[in-house]
Amino acid sequence: MSEQEAYGHKDRDSRMLLQDMRQSGGEDVDPAAWLKETDIVSHDFPYAASLIAESFREWQGQGVPSFAKAWSWCVLNYEGDWIEPGSEFRQGRWRAEWEEAAGICLQTGGIYAAEVLEEGRAYTLLALPVFTRGHREIFAVLGCRMPAEQYESGGKHTAEAMSMHFQTCFYHRFEHVFVSDLAGIHLHAEREGSRRSLLFQIVQRMHDNIDVDAVLTEVIDSIAAMYPGARLDLFMSQDHRSTHPQVKPLPLTWAGNDVCDRAFKDGRVTLHAGRDENGTVEVALPLGGKQGVYGVFHMIMDKASFHELDLSFLTMVADTAGTAFENAKLYERSNQLIRELRMSNELTQRLNQSLRLGDIFQFAFEELLAMFEADYCCILHKNEERGGLEVIACNYLPLLGEILDGSQGLGGKVYATGEPLLLSDYKYAAGQTSTLMDATGSQSLIATPLNVGGEVRGAIMLAHKQAHFFSYDSYRLLQAMAGHIGLAVGNARLHAEVRRLANRDTLTGLFARHYLDEEIKQRQSSDFCGTLIVVDIDQFKMVNDTYGHQKGDKILKQVSDIVKTSIRQGDVAARWGGEELAVYLPQLGVQQAVFVGERIRKRVMGETEPRVTVSCGVAEWSWTDDRVSVESLFYRADMALYEAKNNGRNQVVIDNKTVENNSKNPWA
Ligand code: GH3
Ligand code: MG
Ligand code: MG
Repeated sequence: MSEQEAYGHKDRDSRMLLQDMRQSGGEDVDPAAWLKETDIVSHDFPYAASLIAESFREWQGQGVPSFAKAWSWCVLNYEGDWIEPGSEFRQGRWRAEWEEAAGICLQTGGIYAAEVLEEGRAYTLLALPVFTRGHREIFAVLGCRMPAEQYESGGKHTAEAMSMHFQTCFYHRFEHVFVSDLAGIHLHAEREGSRRSLLFQIVQRMHDNIDVDAVLTEVIDSIAAMYPGARLDLFMSQDHRSTHPQVKPLPLTWAGNDVCDRAFKDGRVTLHAGRDENGTVEVALPLGGKQGVYGVFHMIMDKASFHELDLSFLTMVADTAGTAFENAKLYERSNQLIRELRMSNELTQRLNQSLRLGDIFQFAFEELLAMFEADYCCILHKNEERGGLEVIACNYLPLLGEILDGSQGLGGKVYATGEPLLLSDYKYAAGQTSTLMDATGSQSLIATPLNVGGEVRGAIMLAHKQAHFFSYDSYRLLQAMAGHIGLAVGNARLHAEVRRLANRDTLTGLFARHYLDEEIKQRQSSDFCGTLIVVDIDQFKMVNDTYGHQKGDKILKQVSDIVKTSIRQGDVAARWGGEELAVYLPQLGVQQAVFVGERIRKRVMGETEPRVTVSCGVAEWSWTDDRVSVESLFYRADMALYEAKNNGRNQVVIDNKTVENNSKNPWA
């Protein structure tokens, strides 16, 4: 049992004493009196042996008067058992006599003397009681052996005085131990108090922080302040990026007995101390909340600066930090979700403003650039006609409008594999080259395929000059946004298809009449001139009657295909009704139009099977006409057609007004 435990209860007594003194308040009272009155009592005796032994050695070390040089001393306890024998007593020569003398001394409460003979010389064995200073109980017996003649000549009194000095030595040491214990308790209390107030501050500050990084910084800084010499590291799992230099990612593999590994797996504080007294202590504190362990706080410090007491304190700090981190993380997550929701809402709203593909790509491009704070955005879209991926939107202008090979570059890879891509540092992307990254000097990239109606139809790429710019959250968000863009693109394509279908005649594949009307109307408002040819199959009723309606349809299709392939790009061929077709030739004069009409007529005659012929009526309009309208143009072309029929069919006839106008025009 330690001294601290043995005398622990004295603390209470001394405090009461101190209180009594303060209450009595007299200024004449010795302020140290309470210490002098502090004493040991009979129930302390069993624990006093080591203190008696130490006092005895100290007392002996202080030197005995020269007069008493030949004396030997020993000390026994309150029951007469040996505590500290002098060297010659160890042989047990007068052991029985000593014990008997001590027994008598304890019984009588006074000095007991006995004479013994040793090698023909008479000695006196003295047993001297040592009393407590308060109640005068015997807590030890001092034994002294001296020559008998010295005993007679005053040795008894000297021995008595020396035993009193021993008592003083004992109390001196007792007071020292008592005061050190008291100081220790105060120190402990003070330390505990400061830890508690520190903990309170940490808890308060951590819960004030709704920012994940701030929580981590707080826990590191708080512990660093407490243990200035310690080496601290915080290993965090998950996709957690921190600006703090001491926050590191959790290693994927740890040695099996690593303290961090154990702390992380068990979720408990783990301690490892080297055997060496002057070595280091390694502490691993799991940073966990209700939903799991997020990381491990790792400390290495000198044994000297670590106290067992700190372990519960550190556990509390770690628990608090874990909960605060979890709260901050949840808060951050919900904020992130709200932000994403708002952005996706904005994007879809913008995308829904138009059903035109070009607009949609442009809107998506602008929104993505702003949303991700990227340096570059590049949208690739499959171009069926030109065979490849067209750069449909890009703020690196040299690339805009280019057709890229659908299997090359990073965009090509995303398109070909249909897999999204996150590239933190292009420098280390072995074997992967990208025109966009090279040309713009970008280092970070997130890219995602553009899915339209379950088919990969392109890719979206966002690049930044800085390495490690995009987070995993951004990467995920881009995929979500690409989903919206894909939907909008799908809608626009569907809309375009519906429009295309609405404007087309299903049998012939030519434009419908209303589309032709619209087109001519628009052209008349912007162009200087244009020509309309009306094409009508001759005696078609008879063809039908002869070969049947189905065959008739086939011939109608044959004629339509001839018309389609006889005109320029930009000319509009339509089915005007029944077996009548019409071709509008923008910005073309009647002379050239007649060539086109003739070409059609000749080809129909030569290429149809069974053979049919067509008649054509041609009418031109020009901005100099009195009245420019679609109706009058059609009317005039129809009149010319009527004339062609009347003149025997299989011919091209120009309408009268057109002829008139052209004869007036000296440049015609
Ligand atoms: P012409 O124009 O030379 O004066 O004689 P036509 O027999 O072609 O003239 P008409 O206007 O009297 O008859 C047009 C015929 O075209 C009537 C109709 O049976 C036929 N027809 C119109 N549309 C279609 C069609 O979509 N398919 C088929 N097979 N026949 C059609
Ligand atoms: Mg006809
Ligand atoms: Mg007809």
